[in-house]
Amino acid sequence: MIGIEDATRTVLSRSRNWGDEFVPLTEALGRVLKEPLLADRDFPPYTRVTMDGIAIDFRSYAAGQRSFPIQGLQAAGSPQMELKNPEHCLEVMTGAVLPKGTDTVIPYEEVELRDGVAIVIPDSFKQGKNAHLQGLNRKQGDLIVSSGKWISAAELGVAATVGKTELKVATLPTVCIITTGDELVEVNETPLPHQIRKSNAYSVQALLRMYGIESDLRHIYDEREEIRRVLSACLEQYDILVLSGGVSKGKLDFIPGVLEELGVEKLFHRVKQRPGKPFWFGESRERNTVVFALPGNPVSSFMCTRRYLMPFLHKSLSGQEAPPQYARLAEPFTFKPDLTYFLQVSLKSTAEGVLLAHPVPGKGSGDLANLCDAEAFLELPAGREHFEAGESFRLWGFRPLKN
Ligand code: AMP
Ligand code: MG
Repeated sequence: MIGIEDATRTVLSRSRNWGDEFVPLTEALGRVLKEPLLADRDFPPYTRVTMDGIAIDFRSYAAGQRSFPIQGLQAAGSPQMELKNPEHCLEVMTGAVLPKGTDTVIPYEEVELRDGVAIVIPDSFKQGKNAHLQGLNRKQGDLIVSSGKWISAAELGVAATVGKTELKVATLPTVCIITTGDELVEVNETPLPHQIRKSNAYSVQALLRMYGIESDLRHIYDEREEIRRVLSACLEQYDILVLSGGVSKGKLDFIPGVLEELGVEKLFHRVKQRPGKPFWFGESRERNTVVFALPGNPVSSFMCTRRYLMPFLHKSLSGQEAPPQYARLAEPFTFKPDLTYFLQVSLKSTAEGVLLAHPVPGKGSGDLANLCDAEAFLELPAGREHFEAGESFRLWGFRPLKN
């Protein structure tokens, strides 16, 4: 049995690179960018009017002039006009090119228009107001987004601005989630008294979707030859196998033995943690497949997916470890066994900017209903029994943004 630090190190050391591919801009959200985004033009590409109003040559205003005959109108989307007489003005619209011969825009709110003349009201106007200078934000050729970044709404906006209809992104792995167990029936079936519906496949699949990964689902009964046949085929076909169930000490827990027979090297089995102690992890070098064989208890497979598989995906796709997140325990908590305890918590952010984790421990690793009352796991280290209110620990959230 190994500690969670060793288990984490081993899992992350097996991170992979599944190559690159191009996807349409509209499908790139949540993927990892694999090319730099450079400014194809200056940002902004021309000195841009930022308020509807009049554009003037500031020197006339500085010399005390307050009435400006209107020469014409510069609309957004029209080629740049020129102010012919520095004592006149041009009406300008937001998003227009600042006309040649002008340097300052006075918004309509500060102007009275009378008989083709704009009369400026305030006395303390500054030169250059309401003109967004060409290249102020970024210069042509500047790096705006580095390769390796997760693509969010912000990066999509920039990609569109620089004319990318397609983006080069990290290829996602192919994943099969294989559930095992004779007691499990399909969701659309009515279980007999000794049966339950399978749930792990769907919760694990949903967690992987947070990384944009779609996975195939399969089920095998606790029958050695059948397990061997299916696993052998899946090892050939997929980058990652996620197994649920059959890794504990039961007489019908065939998974570890069969995996090793199939040449999947065991990197560890059993981790000093609760839930998820029977977690088995290995890789088939020959087929370049990694295998996360998770205990079947629903909270165990959920937690191991969040705590090990998702960071593995993060590192594999972006080349970097996910930055750690922390929260403060809101109330004292005691856990006696010498194991890392993944405490289910609900979260509240205080007005002082502190993220507080309220324990909602639930009734063990079979209590999947309790996950619906929690938002995250708080990682309470092994080797201690008492955890004080206000202490900060690593947090593993599993819900998307809610505000
Ligand atoms: P196992 O790891 O196979 O010993 O299973 C541990 C517990 O988790 C048993 O009570 C199983 O019935 C339950 N279990 C295993 N797989 C699933 C699944 N896919 N969905 C829901 N419960 C499961
Ligand atoms: Mg089982």
